[in-house]
Amino acid sequence: MAIERVQDTALNLERLTALAELELTGASLKAVLNQVVDTVARLLPAGKGSTVVMWDAVDEVYQLAASTLPGQESGTVTEGLRTEGGATRWIIEQRRAYVCTNIEMDRFDPNQITKDFGIGSYAGVPIIADGRVLGVLYALEDVPREFDKADLAFLTTLARRAGTAIVDARLHDSNRAALRRTETMAFVSQALVGLSDLDEVLRTIIDGVVGALDADRVVLITLDTQHERVDRYRIGGPGSHLIAHDSYEDLMSGLTGWVVRNQQTALSPRSVPDQRESTALQQRRRDTHGGSVVVAPLRLKGDVIGTLTAVRPFQGADFSPDDAATLEGLSTLAAVAIDNARLSGETRSALTEVRGMYKIMEALNTEGGMGELLDRLAALVAEVLPCDRVSFLLLDVEGRDVYRIVAGGPGADQVSRDMTFDEIWSGLGGWAIRNRRPTRSPDGEPEPRESPEVRERRRATGAGAVLAVPLFHQGESLGVLTAIKQRGDGDFSQRDLELAAAMAGQISVAVANAKLLEELHRLAVTDDLTQVPNRRQLFELGERSYAASIRYGRPLSAIMFDLDEFKRVNDTYGHAVGDEVLVAVVERCLPVIREVDVLGRYGGEEFAVILPETGPEGALEIAERLRAAVADRPLETAAGMIRVTVSVGVATANEEVKNVHGLLDSADAAMFLAKHLGRNRVEKS
Ligand code: GH3
Ligand code: MG
Ligand code: MG
Repeated sequence: MAIERVQDTALNLERLTALAELELTGASLKAVLNQVVDTVARLLPAGKGSTVVMWDAVDEVYQLAASTLPGQESGTVTEGLRTEGGATRWIIEQRRAYVCTNIEMDRFDPNQITKDFGIGSYAGVPIIADGRVLGVLYALEDVPREFDKADLAFLTTLARRAGTAIVDARLHDSNRAALRRTETMAFVSQALVGLSDLDEVLRTIIDGVVGALDADRVVLITLDTQHERVDRYRIGGPGSHLIAHDSYEDLMSGLTGWVVRNQQTALSPRSVPDQRESTALQQRRRDTHGGSVVVAPLRLKGDVIGTLTAVRPFQGADFSPDDAATLEGLSTLAAVAIDNARLSGETRSALTEVRGMYKIMEALNTEGGMGELLDRLAALVAEVLPCDRVSFLLLDVEGRDVYRIVAGGPGADQVSRDMTFDEIWSGLGGWAIRNRRPTRSPDGEPEPRESPEVRERRRATGAGAVLAVPLFHQGESLGVLTAIKQRGDGDFSQRDLELAAAMAGQISVAVANAKLLEELHRLAVTDDLTQVPNRRQLFELGERSYAASIRYGRPLSAIMFDLDEFKRVNDTYGHAVGDEVLVAVVERCLPVIREVDVLGRYGGEEFAVILPETGPEGALEIAERLRAAVADRPLETAAGMIRVTVSVGVATANEEVKNVHGLLDSADAAMFLAKHLGRNRVEKS
């Protein structure tokens, strides 16, 4: 017994060390999952090893995402697991752990892995992040056995860490992919600048698509002006020897025809037959091992002059909506370059446009916060489009409120930064968002799609022609890009609209990623329960206030407060009600402090407030207000009204205080005194 306990302790220590040593952030998804399964195989009863099975919502299959089992490639879809899922489906649906102590008596049918590897028992826990179940982490044992509480707790902790890391890694992976694409696009557009030989232009574009989209074959066709025959037909990519030129009729009976007729991009997965395509063409694609397809129109001056098609091999992954957006971007470059090569007279203006696109791609590559990136992008768009001002009106996640307004161009100051959602919605921008279509409005004519108020406001700022392009990412509305000319400066052309639409595609990807990063950052610095800054952020912001107070010789104070006899609240009503009380206390306190003050959760049931520009008297006053706000009326909770009080300590920075830690320590000491002197009172240091 004693020896067992010593062994247990050693194992626990090893597990704790492993948890501390796990480096799960900043790595690629694959590396993250491999670390997790390795740790499980090493430190759990998992004689056979460990696997992660993820639910792939796009392909609707369960997929082995990582495994220590020999010969089990990650990415495989295990037969029998495929869509039924067995234990995996149950764990994901129930969001609970499942333990099978003896495979002979398992409630789920054994799948190929359990059979092939002779698994005797196993434990699986759900991998959850942001409230969504992403997959299951398994420990696999060769003999029947129990998994004890500690085993399951460790497996659960690993799964939780894996969840956070997966979200983080996916973001990195998607940023990396975006970066690679952007680089290719930049490269292609740079290569195109100065090319006047059409054949060379076409070859450059095809190579660019192969590289940017990881395509097996790429087909570029241009049509004659009547759309009645194929003008040029070019094929490239590693798998291009597998295919022959389709006849014009064949092309028109497939996705190409659909794209030409609808002037829209078509995206087709590998597994489902696409109704937009004739069965003969579907068969031909299968015969030549073609998989997922994406076709984008080459748009020029309101007309489709051809199409650009990328095909992946049948065993490859499906193209994503991001891939489609990239192809659209490349199509725009292609259309401009083809036009440019054809009509050397217009060369100059077309070249400027291609260069504009190139600069946008460069801006996307640069580091820096979202604000900086958007400012630069708005300025760039204003350079490319002939206009007075450009704005991005960005909506929040639900698409029901204004998230941010960014403006660029010479007339940027004319863009109102406090536009409301209703104003945007009742203008041309709202129309573009609702109809998911770019649109423009000519100079000097009343625009029937906007409200009289919006029209009047626009008129008052000297605006003339308007152009509005919706910003979308993976089907979600992010906002709208608008460009405005001054009155009397003429209209936007169809070409302007096309360029704006192509740029909007690129910008949408950047905005979506930046928003996600901002949200991750917010989560990292916010206390889950009370939604105020957590301890780390409190010190971070406090340190800034402290530095400013030293630099400008201004006063700085801090308050600490701790709930009185809070253990009793927990003991009487339970922890959940205790949590509610903490939230309610924060709600009471926030209205009492000023906008510039920072209230954060110092730990447990202790909070701190940083008070810039505040001396001893002011701080005492706020402290008393806080005490009274909590004590005066009982708090509302699920268990009824509960009366709580706080003890408050106040300190003001002086020569002895060297940093914000010192200041808070000093407030803490005063708070301790308040406790000592009877609680529900304020003391100063
Ligand atoms: P005192 O007046 O001396 O502060 O008495 P107290 O009971 O508040 O004593 P102490 O500060 O030592 O105890 C803090 C209690 O707060 C213990 C802990 O269970 C509880 N607590 C800390 N964090 C949380 C939390 O997030 N939720 C809940 N419900 N309780 C918490
Ligand atoms: Mg307390
Ligand atoms: Mg305490």
